[in-house]
Amino acid sequence: MAELVFFSGTMDCGKSTLALQMDHNHRARGRSGIIYTKLDRAGTDVLSSRLGLSTPAHEVGDELDFWDAVVEHATSGLRIDYLICDEVQFYTPAQVEQLARLVDEMGIDVFAFGITADFRTQLFPGSRRMIELADKVQVLQVEALCWCGRRATHNARVVDGAMVVEGEQVVVGDTKAGTETLVEYEVLCRRHFMRRMNSAAARAAASSPDVLPFDLDLCPVPPC
Ligand SMILES: [Zn+2]
Repeated sequence: MAELVFFSGTMDCGKSTLALQMDHNHRARGRSGIIYTKLDRAGTDVLSSRLGLSTPAHEVGDELDFWDAVVEHATSGLRIDYLICDEVQFYTPAQVEQLARLVDEMGIDVFAFGITADFRTQLFPGSRRMIELADKVQVLQVEALCWCGRRATHNARVVDGAMVVEGEQVVVGDTKAGTETLVEYEVLCRRHFMRRMNSAAARAAASSPDVLPFDLDLCPVPPC
């Protein structure tokens, strides 16, 4: 029985590595699949992991219809047993519905990977629809860590070194092209996310480089 499975986690928790491993395992069993991704850090038409592995992939644009695309592949004679869908938080809700339809009506397994919430702690529309429709939602067990050592559960956006909680939902990180600002992302535990205390702010607030402000009194929750 085909399934729609959503593997979710924060950034840095190994989602893309697992996506590559999943593809490898199914291929090794003689199954045939297609890999999709969107806005991968390594560029278009590639799925890459932080461990340095990468593979060619189909880039998902907003206009892509998964149903039409897969039917086209199938009618051209390609067998399709499964889809690997990375960065699914960036897909539209309609695309997630198309994926569910492929599972139900064509018996294709869909393994989707994505971040659930954005830098404001709000669900991405694609992830929300995935949580609503998936047969299984699996939270990845490789834990990303906050600078304080606690489990990181939140994705913070850092602009020119300072954490921000307002702005457009999708801004690809590490891209400085065309602008003077550097946008980065950092995973934090909830208490440091709420206190807007990313690692650079923690270093700045420390009385010496050896003493980071683990004491929460030193980093109160900012007023809204
Ligand atoms: Zn922390």
